[in-house]
Amino acid sequence: MSFNVAIDGPAGAGKSTIAKAVAKKLNLIYVDTGAMYRAMALYMLREQVPLLDTERIIEKCSQADITIRYENGIQVVQLNGENVNEFLRTEEVGKAASVISPIPEVRRKLVELQKTLAAHTDCIMDGRDIGTCVLPNAGLKIFLTASSEVRARRRYDELAAKGMEEDLQKIKADIEERDYRDMHREQSPLKQAEDAVLVDTSHMSADEVISIISQMCENGMQAFHGIKTFREI
Ligand code: C5P
Repeated sequence: MSFNVAIDGPAGAGKSTIAKAVAKKLNLIYVDTGAMYRAMALYMLREQVPLLDTERIIEKCSQADITIRYENGIQVVQLNGENVNEFLRTEEVGKAASVISPIPEVRRKLVELQKTLAAHTDCIMDGRDIGTCVLPNAGLKIFLTASSEVRARRRYDELAAKGMEEDLQKIKADIEERDYRDMHREQSPLKQAEDAVLVDTSHMSADEVISIISQMCENGMQAFHGIKTFREI
């Protein structure tokens, strides 16, 4: 049996930054499920499948072989054997992922992969439906959020640091549109699991969030494995 941590929350809440840092600190595997939906979206964009043509997407989705491997602790997403990590983080791919992610056939395929990964390793998995659907028995569930103003500002700063000038209001509108789609879909909508701990990071630094969540994970791991974690041995 493995110890799993589920982190869910809206776009730009800092899930991946936090999950990655906590995983490194506690020697857990980090599983980024958004990257899997993004890889599927990338495949549809490359194949020029219209994103609103659900039938074609269902048909094509069986031809997209998405697998995950780890290189020096970094998740590598492979699409039909190709490492596609460098193509996944664009706004276009993120938006496309949120358009195709409600399709049950897409979800079924990716959720199966996620469950298999979590069954074999202690991991931190982030996404939208991890605590509610993928890992309902996770040892710890966290719902990470922040106001849309704060999330848009963080995204703006992140892009600016890379030398990309984007309109703050447009970023905020895109984030709100994506949240709306993720929260109102029929299949596995984004919502806080009943037993998840709510962490609102609007007024917290990344280091503060990492410290709080690491502590929660350590407590959970100790209770689960009944042993002391590597930091105390
Ligand atoms: O987290 P990220 O921005 O990479 O996710 C991209 C999109 O993939 C989300 O907006 C959401 O529609 C979808 N997604 C999902 N379920 C997950 C993870 C991501 O539906 N577990």
